[in-house]
Amino acid sequence: MPKKILIKNALIVTMNPALDSFKGDILVSANRIEQIAEHIPANDNLVFNAEGYIVTPGLIQTHIHLCQTLFRNLADDLLLLDWLKEKIWPFEAAHQPDTLRLSAQLGLSELLKSGTTTILDMGTVHHQDVIFEELTKSGIRAFAGKTMMDYGKIPAGLNEKTHHSIDESVRLLKKWDNSANGRIRYAFAPRFAISCSDELLIETGRLAKEHNTLFHTHASENPGELELVKKRFGLRNIEVFDKLGFAKENLCLAHCIWLDENEKQLLKAQEIKVLHCPSSNLKLGSGIAAIPEYLKRGIHVSIGADGAPCNNNLDIFTEMRLAALIQKPANGPKAMPALDVFKLATINGAETLGLKDEVGSIEKGKKADLTFIKLNQVHSIPFDNVYSKLVYSTKADDVEHVMIDGQWIVRDKKVLTIDEKQIFANIEHAVKICTT
Ligand SMILES: [Zn+2]
Repeated sequence: MPKKILIKNALIVTMNPALDSFKGDILVSANRIEQIAEHIPANDNLVFNAEGYIVTPGLIQTHIHLCQTLFRNLADDLLLLDWLKEKIWPFEAAHQPDTLRLSAQLGLSELLKSGTTTILDMGTVHHQDVIFEELTKSGIRAFAGKTMMDYGKIPAGLNEKTHHSIDESVRLLKKWDNSANGRIRYAFAPRFAISCSDELLIETGRLAKEHNTLFHTHASENPGELELVKKRFGLRNIEVFDKLGFAKENLCLAHCIWLDENEKQLLKAQEIKVLHCPSSNLKLGSGIAAIPEYLKRGIHVSIGADGAPCNNNLDIFTEMRLAALIQKPANGPKAMPALDVFKLATINGAETLGLKDEVGSIEKGKKADLTFIKLNQVHSIPFDNVYSKLVYSTKADDVEHVMIDGQWIVRDKKVLTIDEKQIFANIEHAVKICTT
């Protein structure tokens, strides 16, 4: 039997219901947390001395596009619909399996190194098996799915026949859902209302329910997008989803900036999940989602970096800091306190994904997904409130080790599961294939 791992002397930020933080030990047995206490005897366990580290629950990002990491710094200063039409869709359409693989590896390296242990990813239209292969190899915990697009003005390389898009999604689900010891799950991913037919949206909603998984899409990110939705349906985004029958608790909606009162009530009543992307919303000039109001209303909110070309990083610490700061000019300095923000990246993320009993906090019986952050850095000491330190002054580079499912995935800032040298060697060629 493999030995248990005893993590000793860490400053543990549990995010349990009592929000306990204390100096203590965590015993990891196989892929779960067996015990957490101020002192656990070493016995014959493998001891990891975590003196000088904050150990937090593995951080969770609920809106990522690994397929776009290759297009980082190649699509600045555009509004959403132009950004998609002029840059992102043609780039995605040009992906070949090898370029998509590199894009995923690059994104996963950055995510893992900066302490993200679980993601909800939206793929591109083709070659989705490649993304699943890389998710599996990397050791990350993930929900992912191919993007579905069958309606409107879309480049030929991304436009699908409705039945083909659905059949391919179901094939992928059957192959990958619940694989890698349950670490990998399938999430259906129609891109957004205006690139999907009614038939595709309705059938996807039915399938996501039938297979007990997520329906992941974008909604009300930009006024131009909202106008197109209103023109086609005579309704606003969330009302369309409600009318088509899939505005349910498994519906995960990136952005949700431009909502009216009725839509906010629908989000709350039907337990729909909002995926907040502060950097992306600022960079594309989309707007600022009313997150403090949503939280006050009891709407579920979690956080994600979106894709690299609209951010241009996948760093959760930047997202957390911005999630707090962007609310303060309009709503006052007490809007979005650090603790509320840290919840978005931990326990709220777990709840969004239906993983609340598995991850999102450090508690006995949960999966051993842990992020180790250097405690004493000149840019982040001193501190009284640990959430203030984590949200406002910690940097991605302060993450030194990451454990997922009881396995070391990052040690001493090195991702053990991905060959970075190979990424550096091949990236220029891959970018050329997709962008010229
Ligand atoms: Zn997105």
